[in-house]
Amino acid sequence: MDAKGLVEKQREYFNTNATKDPAFRVGQLKKLKALLKANEARLNAAIYEDFGKSEFETYLTELSQIYHEIDMFVKKVPRWSRRKRVPGSLANVPSRSYILPEPLGTTLVIGAWNYPYNLSLIPALSALAAGNTVILKPSELPARTSQIMAEIINQGFSDAYFHVVEGGVEETTELLENAFDKVFFTGSIPVGRIIYQKAARHLTPVTLELGGKSPTFVLSGCDIRVAARRIAWAKFLNAGQTCIAPDYVLVEKEVEAPLLAALKEEIQTRYAPGETLRENYVQIINERNLERLAALIDPAKVHHGGEVDRDTRTISPTLMNGVNFEDPVMEDELFGPVLPVIAFSDLDEAIGKVKERSKPLACYVYAKDRVRIRKILREVSFGGGAVNDSLMHLSNPNLPFGGVGASGMGNYHGKAGFRAFTHYKSILDKPTFFEAPLKYWPYAPWKLKLIRRMFN
Ligand code: NAD
Repeated sequence: MDAKGLVEKQREYFNTNATKDPAFRVGQLKKLKALLKANEARLNAAIYEDFGKSEFETYLTELSQIYHEIDMFVKKVPRWSRRKRVPGSLANVPSRSYILPEPLGTTLVIGAWNYPYNLSLIPALSALAAGNTVILKPSELPARTSQIMAEIINQGFSDAYFHVVEGGVEETTELLENAFDKVFFTGSIPVGRIIYQKAARHLTPVTLELGGKSPTFVLSGCDIRVAARRIAWAKFLNAGQTCIAPDYVLVEKEVEAPLLAALKEEIQTRYAPGETLRENYVQIINERNLERLAALIDPAKVHHGGEVDRDTRTISPTLMNGVNFEDPVMEDELFGPVLPVIAFSDLDEAIGKVKERSKPLACYVYAKDRVRIRKILREVSFGGGAVNDSLMHLSNPNLPFGGVGASGMGNYHGKAGFRAFTHYKSILDKPTFFEAPLKYWPYAPWKLKLIRRMFN
């Protein structure tokens, strides 16, 4: 079926109102979880084939989060879909006011490749939880994961309700010719622009989950050992191919040397060459990205690592020091296991440098001094982040996840995901037994006087 036919079929199905029943939604979410659980071995094999992601990391960063979101929606959907009474207003006495959550309709979810299951399925299941139909277009770069999602979902669900369309630019462009009720996109800033423009032609609302260069501040007085451990884990997870990975470190001059030493020790002990590394260290997604990263590693500034292995498509955990803001490595989002460290002596200047750039998706602060922590959190605009940790804010579904400015618009996870795919319809519900005459013709001075007194 072509894209147009599929969208029409989904719209027709949506118009039967079947998806609006919370019990139906809960049933479909449970079914999705059961299908994923039954196919876990195949999901693990596919992602390993695509870019060497281990079962451990797949469970930790993809499947466990998907299951957690499903369980939460199963519990909360009945309550979140209920109408909600809100206080009335003087102009409408007597009456009831309430908000009716309603699904937006037929939605399109476009996924990115770096967490192929997580970034495709969490937005998709949020849309289902909110009562929409979904067309999911996963990234084509990891071909096996795209294929396995298509197999599992397209066999398990009717295409009128939830369907995977595989493909790249051509297929996505064809889909975007249609008028969706919502487009949810995860990916790069340039493609985000294209999606936004295409959606605008139909006045389709969008959520854009984009990227950016996320800074990590390390200030004197913080626990350097803990900082190094948490930064290294967050940076080298998924071989740095994480949208909220610490892109670069801004370290206060007096703790630069201890931080570099602690980071190096962390790499040497935890990422030592051997079987564990071979089995668990993720590959760079393709040769193009490998070469892009390799070209950014200036050997003169490598503090540790920097080995590029073309046979296994890996880059060893790499620390760069003596970097400045004009270096090529500081131009674009790195999206790889390369961590530039820049020392600063004036916090205002460092904040100023971050603010000269596009608003990042994440920002992390390692510090003890609450005044300086608050200063950074207040002065730098970014999507979300953590104090004395990295990445882990994403694992709390009570924290909406999304960017600001160039790093995106809108958010999801937990209730925010439900809201992203819901329209909140406002209703004023009035009885007919009473009629206040004030607003009706003929207008009269006494009426105006009374209105003025009421709304003074
Ligand atoms: P990408 O923008 O290249 O691709 C994303 C999706 O868009 C894919 O499904 C792809 O098929 C489709 N696409 C590509 N070009 C298109 C075009 N011209 N027209 C229509 N569709 C097109 O991004 P990517 O390489 O998959 O992901 C990496 C980027 O995504 C990084 O910048 C990263 O920061 C960002 N990202 C953001 C988040 C987040 O949650 N904010 C999560 C992961 C990745």
